[in-house]
Amino acid sequence: MAHRASQSLIVNTSTIELIDSHCHLDFSEFDSNRGELITSCQQQGIISLIVPGVSAQQSLSLLNFKAQAPSFVNIAFGLHPYFLTQTADADMQVLTQLAHQYNKQLCAIGECGIDRAQPNLELQQRIFIAHIALANDLKLPLIVHHRQSHDLIQAAFKQCPPKHGGVIHAFSGSKEIANYYVGFGFKLGIGGIISYERSQKTRETIATIALDSLLIETDAPSMPLFGAQGQPNSPLALIDVFTHLVSLRMEPAAVIAAQLRQSCNDIFRI
Ligand SMILES: [Zn+2]
Repeated sequence: MAHRASQSLIVNTSTIELIDSHCHLDFSEFDSNRGELITSCQQQGIISLIVPGVSAQQSLSLLNFKAQAPSFVNIAFGLHPYFLTQTADADMQVLTQLAHQYNKQLCAIGECGIDRAQPNLELQQRIFIAHIALANDLKLPLIVHHRQSHDLIQAAFKQCPPKHGGVIHAFSGSKEIANYYVGFGFKLGIGGIISYERSQKTRETIATIALDSLLIETDAPSMPLFGAQGQPNSPLALIDVFTHLVSLRMEPAAVIAAQLRQSCNDIFRI
């Protein structure tokens, strides 16, 4: 695998526009500095971001959240596998109704998916399939969460094939798995994981797969980059994710930035 010299990690971002395709900017970790953070992002070329839904109630609250910075914030409605409770089936009914009602405001359905670190895989599978069906009904892409669960995600895709693509958030895995998702019209969400030397398999996948298969994201306040472990992550770290991606790829930074911008538009219409 070809690597660039480390000095090319310094990328001039003054002329590029980046979109954080996954950022929980509504979480309370950002309550004290959200306004300044948005200003700093815009000054540094981060022109927009996508805030996923994690519960029915929080999804509804995203409508107001978006209204405060409509040109910067894009939103999705979903039930995150971390936050599923005993009432998940009823919550999914509520979410479905809300998504139909407010679908013009949404760029995607999610964050949804299957997480092997969480209990009740049968329930997770059922709720995930309901999200796929909802996205198909509304002609929207999906934001998919996975954790040691590619096999279960693929089983769900077999049962209810997604029709409008989406993003495999925080992608990690082999090129074979990556190509499976690309075949369904999905992009791979590339985050801080590529800053870790131990993620060799994922870094190789990202280095060699077609450039138009990729999106970048921070997942802030989660998933800090190497060197920032233990600190809350920030959407400003998107620039570091981008520079790590540039260091893994052969294309010039400007070409990569332009393709990421295009891919975000192709999937999310933003
Ligand atoms: Zn997330």
